[in-house]
Amino acid sequence: MSDEMIRIENVSYEYDSYGDNKALIAVDNVSMTVNKGEYLVILGHNGSGKSTLAKLINGLLIPTRGDVFVNGINTKDADRIWEIREIAGMVFQNPDNQLVATIVEEDVAFGPENLGVPPEEIRRRVDKALEIVEMTEYKKHAPHLLSGGQKQRVAIAGILAMKPECIILDEPTAMLDPIGRKEIMKTLRRLNDEEKKTIIHITHHMDEAVEADRIIVMEKGKIVMEGSPREIFSQVEKIKKLGLDVPQVTELAYELNKEGFNVPCNILTIEELVDAL
Ligand code: ADP
Ligand code: MG
Repeated sequence: MSDEMIRIENVSYEYDSYGDNKALIAVDNVSMTVNKGEYLVILGHNGSGKSTLAKLINGLLIPTRGDVFVNGINTKDADRIWEIREIAGMVFQNPDNQLVATIVEEDVAFGPENLGVPPEEIRRRVDKALEIVEMTEYKKHAPHLLSGGQKQRVAIAGILAMKPECIILDEPTAMLDPIGRKEIMKTLRRLNDEEKKTIIHITHHMDEAVEADRIIVMEKGKIVMEGSPREIFSQVEKIKKLGLDVPQVTELAYELNKEGFNVPCNILTIEELVDAL
């Protein structure tokens, strides 16, 4: 069996634009792979094509050119689109748009119910999914009364109950407060470390990107940087030219270095900075 979860081969995606006759190329000849068990972060400023790429990965969009394979299945294979969406689940920015039921556990059961999973198996999956996201005690609660971070964890549980191998999250923390963001980051770490899920996490928070095994940076529909968090964030000037920030502590190390202090520029954590000083 291959170690490849996702394979993207020379993929372009053009949206029809109605105003003028020019098609808008949102993803421009991208090739990449994501390995099973990997935690990949995708960075890039607004409009760089991240969401389009995410939708191409789980078959919500089909490439204009090129091919996307999910566990070896081409997303153009219309007969297998539901299989693809089961393998690669998607979590969006706004948890309110993803919650459908009036009770947490019913919400989590919605996905497997639609897949025709037998009731006793649904029960098991719902309990396990709520346990993983640490929302068991809220299973009888109304989702709309939960905090943003809790809602987003219920949304993640709903995806988990469909037993995906890969979870794609498109700015899942963008609407959350710092506490909610921490909860989601803890959940994502756990999904990757303990549940061995492949994670594709789109974010604009650099402190979240530091958690990745690998980062890709997009710009105008293309992949312009790729590497470990340390490799990416040590290139402070290049990152800034792309309109992005580096983590605060990396920025501090960079400024200290410019002022003549002997600290390396590839620092990612406060502990590392303290050690260097
Ligand atoms: P990102 O998620 O990085 O902000 P998107 O993938 O959403 O980027 O958008 C990439 C480009 O495609 C942008 O120029 C955006 O305006 C355009 N775009 C996104 N969605 C649509 C759409 N439904 N119709 C037309 N153009 C779109
Ligand atoms: Mg987006």
